[in-house]
Amino acid sequence: MLATKVGLVDTTGTVDTQTMAAVAAALNVQVTRDLPKYWPVSASVSYLADPKKIPQGVWPVQLVRTLPPDEGGFHMTRHNQPYAKVIVTPGSEEWAVDASHETIEMLIDPNGNRLQTSNSIEIANGKIQDGTGRFEYLVEACDPCEADPYTYTIDGIAVSDFITPHFYDPNVTPDARYSFTGAVKHPRQILPGGYISWVDPVTNEMQQILWVDPNQPPVLRNLGSATGGSLRLFIESQTYHKSREKREALKPQAKAERAVYREALAAAAMARANHYK
Ligand SMILES: [Zn+2]
Repeated sequence: MLATKVGLVDTTGTVDTQTMAAVAAALNVQVTRDLPKYWPVSASVSYLADPKKIPQGVWPVQLVRTLPPDEGGFHMTRHNQPYAKVIVTPGSEEWAVDASHETIEMLIDPNGNRLQTSNSIEIANGKIQDGTGRFEYLVEACDPCEADPYTYTIDGIAVSDFITPHFYDPNVTPDARYSFTGAVKHPRQILPGGYISWVDPVTNEMQQILWVDPNQPPVLRNLGSATGGSLRLFIESQTYHKSREKREALKPQAKAERAVYREALAAAAMARANHYK
């Protein structure tokens, strides 16, 4: 299988090189060890030290300060090649989860137009349940489980959980995984803080269920006909900033635990270097 190269690059000059290298290494583990267990992806992630140099064949994931209100993380070049932008907030680690999210979705569906047919869903009494029809879901592997409580860590770096192809199964089957960590327990389950988008066959328009505020019930949203370069570009232009408004912040204790763990790794690395003299 031909391999895709993803390059993590900081355009803001605010993230230190050790953190960049550590996050790129964690994403590389995720896309080589975890992702291919469920999706046919062959890729690697590396750290690009110079934002002014993007080697040929590399899909950049750029860290940026802000994104316009009508832009999401997913982008395409003039010649329809995918790349991503991730907002860096000083002192926050959420950007690593966002970088993981964009990288995974870009690798599973580089064009942002992949649809998967499955049972429809609806909201009844504030809960999401299967409906009677079928929808064509946009394959966005991290949206249903994107909230921080469902992240997992690789070498002390938090990365996004992602759904598996079983997410689109008709029914629950014993032993099936619906997301990598197992946080998603059955097909089409949207976790608090997540969302999902689809094409409704009756109206031929795009709809989504947003549960971006975990303290409120999920809501159905009609988006009309898609416009723009790809379905994911369209969906993210409507959803990206909305999905971040009510985002649950990382619990201080979890943040502290990760920091302690990474310090321990750094201390061990320093001690280990002494053995190579
Ligand atoms: Zn997404």
